[in-house]
Formats: sequence, structure tokens, C-alpha cells
Amino acid sequence: MSILVFADSANGAFKPTAAELLGKATALAAALGTTVTAAVLGDAPAASLGGLGAAKVFQAAGDFSNYDNGAIVDALAAIVAAANPTVILAPASYIGRDALPRLAARLDTAMGSDCSDLKVEGGVVVGRRSEFAGRAYADVSISSTPAVFTVRPNTFPKPENNGGSAEVVAVDWSASTPTVSVVETLAPEATGIDLSSAGKVVAGGRSLKSKENFDSVIRPLGAALQAGVGASRAATDAGYAPHNEQVGQTGQTVNPQLYIAAGISGAIQHLAGMRTSKVIVAINKDPDAPIFQHATYGIVADLFDVVPELTKAVEALD
Ligand SMILES: Cc1cc2nc3c(=O)[nH]c(=O)nc-3n(C[C@H](O)[C@H](O)[C@H](O)COP(=O)(O)OP(=O)(O)OC[C@H]3O[C@@H](n4cnc5c(N)ncnc54)[C@H](O)[C@@H]3O)c2cc1C
Repeated sequence: MSILVFADSANGAFKPTAAELLGKATALAAALGTTVTAAVLGDAPAASLGGLGAAKVFQAAGDFSNYDNGAIVDALAAIVAAANPTVILAPASYIGRDALPRLAARLDTAMGSDCSDLKVEGGVVVGRRSEFAGRAYADVSISSTPAVFTVRPNTFPKPENNGGSAEVVAVDWSASTPTVSVVETLAPEATGIDLSSAGKVVAGGRSLKSKENFDSVIRPLGAALQAGVGASRAATDAGYAPHNEQVGQTGQTVNPQLYIAAGISGAIQHLAGMRTSKVIVAINKDPDAPIFQHATYGIVADLFDVVPELTKAVEALD
């Protein structure tokens, strides 16, 4: 019995979600009286995860840089066979959204996806996930084993690595015949900070009226705050910002400490992608805009006045 954390990595370095999930797994394991193990694909420094609470790390060597979800599932399934966990935690990142449901199907088990909280109740792990585009929450437990949960990045605090070292078990695996081959990889428009895991996000809506305004009003505040830049679908559809910056039901899900929504009405489909943000600041001319019902701080004003002032004030802090 153990909790296995998929410690995602890229270019030999762990992503922040690895520390986040290992920290939470350690607390859950203490409540369950079990241990924490980790799954690593590729050549990231597996032993170092001991400093984040992993008692043992199962590592499948290989080159996973050319995204192939078949190979990822093959390698993770081999790790699960070796680790025999009762619970699997993984980030609700692109890989978590794509490969983990396939892994759950391969293991003939169920999965709670895109959780915004995890707790122990009645001796099992329970995940909280939003339903109906964020209109309701459901607490889900899974009766099949292993129970698979993916968790939104930035949901839990990241513990410091205490420098400890874990036993590393090399897992043999082989890729089944690929059903998909990658013909070409197109890099997204370079937009700086990765939105899905950004700690701060500044987003603009239809009210920006042009790409030039979006670039000259929203992006400078994003740069000053070292934040990711997001947009409503109305803004991306109008070409003010690229589609990979769209936040919402049909865009990206973000979960930052700070989300600034400038000139965004707060449609349910937009809220679906950002309402779990810890602090929401809404700037809108209309005091009745629905976004204010979800905002921690609301500024009823013209964004073209407020956002440049905010940018100046943040820049003055440096
Ligand atoms: C199936 C489906 C999926 C969808 N998926 C998404 C999604 O993923 N993400 C998403 O965002 N939307 C999505 N939508 C669209 C969504 O319903 C809204 O139409 C969209 O979010 C509206 O964008 P907006 O808030 O920028 O524009 P609007 O709703 O037009 O709001 C503009 C706001 O700006 C304010 N404003 C205007 N000028 C100023 C100013 N100068 N200063 C301050 N405030 C000002 C107005 O008061 C208004 O509140 C989806 C819709 C459907 C049907």
C-alpha cells in the first residue's frame, strides 16, 4: 500500500508540480499510515525526491522528449506494476490530461481528474473536482485500485527539499507498437511564462478592442508582475491574443495565487478556467459585471486608466 506520485520532468529537471504533489502525498500518507513513492520518466535526478518525502523512486529510463502518449502510458504502467500503489497522484497538466486517463483505462481503474483539493475521509483519499463548468463541486472517492487522481497545478504549497535521498529502482519497460507517430512539432507562439502553472496571471477581454491595446496595456502589467498573460475567448477569437492564452472551459485552466481580470465580464465559461485562483482582482466599468461576484478585490473603473497606473506602481516597487 502506497501513494505513487508521478513526478513530471522536462530536460532533466523536475517541474514544480513534483514538489507540490509529493508534499501533499506525504500529508495524505501520514493520515493513511502508508508511504510515498514516486514515478520518474527519463533521466531527472530521481534520488533527490527523497528530500521531498518519497521513500522509493521508480524510474523508467528513455527519451520522452518527443511526446508520445503511448510510450508514456507503457512506461507508467510498468512502474505501477513494480510499485503496486493504492493511490496514484499526477498533475492535471497536458500530460496528466492526456496520458493519465489512458493509464487508468489500461489499469482498469477509475480516475478523478482535475482536482482542486485532496483529503483523507473514511480511510480513503477523496478528491474535490468541479462539475458543470464550475457551477458545483463533487467530492469523489474511487473504489477500484489504484485510485488515480490528477490535480491542478498550484493547488498545494511546495515544500522545500530537505536534501534527503531516496532508493531508486530502475524499471524495465518496452514501448508497444506506436499507434500514433509525431510528424511535426509546432512550438506555440512564445508567450513567456507557462500559463497553466503560473503563480500570477494578468488577463484581458473583449474590452481591449485591439491587439495593439492588448499588447500595450495588458502585457506590460504581466511583465511588471512577472505573470503569465491570459485572455477571454472573446479576446482570442478577435485576434487580440493567441489562442494558447485563452483561459476557460475551452481554453487553459489556471490556478494562480493572483488572477487579474481586466475588462472581462465573468461568463461561466471563463470562470471555469480561473475561479479556483486564490486572489482574484477584477477591473470592470460595469459594477454589475458577474466577475465581481467572484472577485476578492473589485475595481469599478476604466481599465485603460487603471491598468497603466497599476503597471507604473508595480514597476516603482523594483
Ligand atoms: C461552449 C462555449 C465555450 C466557451 N469557452 C470559453 C472559454 O474557454 N473562455 C472564455 O473566456 N469564454 C468562453 N466562452 C465565451 C463566453 O461565454 C463569453 O462570451 C466570453 O468569456 C466573454 O468574453 P469577455 O468577458 O472578454 O467579453 P464580454 O462578455 O463582452 O465582456 C466585456 C466586459 O468588459 C467590460 N468593459 C468594457 N470596456 C471596459 C473598459 N474600458 N474598462 C473596464 N471594463 C470594460 C464590460 O463591462 C464587460 O463586462 C465560451 C462560450 C461557449 C458557448
